[in-house]
Amino acid sequence: MNDCLFCKIIAGEIPSTKVYEDELCYAFYDIAPMAPKHFLVVPKKHLSSASEITEKDAAVVGHIFAVIAKLTKELDFDGFRVVTNCGEIAGQTVQHLHFHVLGGKPLGAFN
Ligand code: 5GP
Ligand code: ZN
Repeated sequence: MNDCLFCKIIAGEIPSTKVYEDELCYAFYDIAPMAPKHFLVVPKKHLSSASEITEKDAAVVGHIFAVIAKLTKELDFDGFRVVTNCGEIAGQTVQHLHFHVLGGKPLGAFN
C-alpha cells in the first residue's frame, strides 16, 4: 500500500521507535500516547481495519496477541488494555489495522 502511513513505518521510510519486530508484525510506540505506556502492534500485511480480517488472517491476529502478552511482560505492564478502532465513528485515523496496547495507570471504564 503506497500511501499508507503504517506501511511506510514498517518499511522504515518513516522513523518510529520500535518495540519489537518479526516476520509477521511490527510494534512501536505511539507518537501521541494516551497512557504512560502506549504502543501499537500492526501486521506487516496491509489490512485496512479489523473489519477486513478473515479466517485467512487468524494466524497473524493470534500471533499478534501472543506478541502482546510477551511484550507486556517484558515491559513490566501491570495489566493492560488492547484496543482496535474500526471506522471513523470509532476514532480510526490510520487505515492500517493496528492494536493499541495501553497501560501504566488505572484506565477506568471506556465508552
Ligand atoms: P487510531 O486513531 O487510528 O486508532 O490510531 C492511530 C494511532 O497512530 C494514534 O494513536 C496516533 O497517535 C498514532 N500515530 C499517528 N501517526 C503516527 C506516527 O507517525 N508515528 C507513530 N509512532 N504513531 C502515529
Ligand atoms: Zn498499510
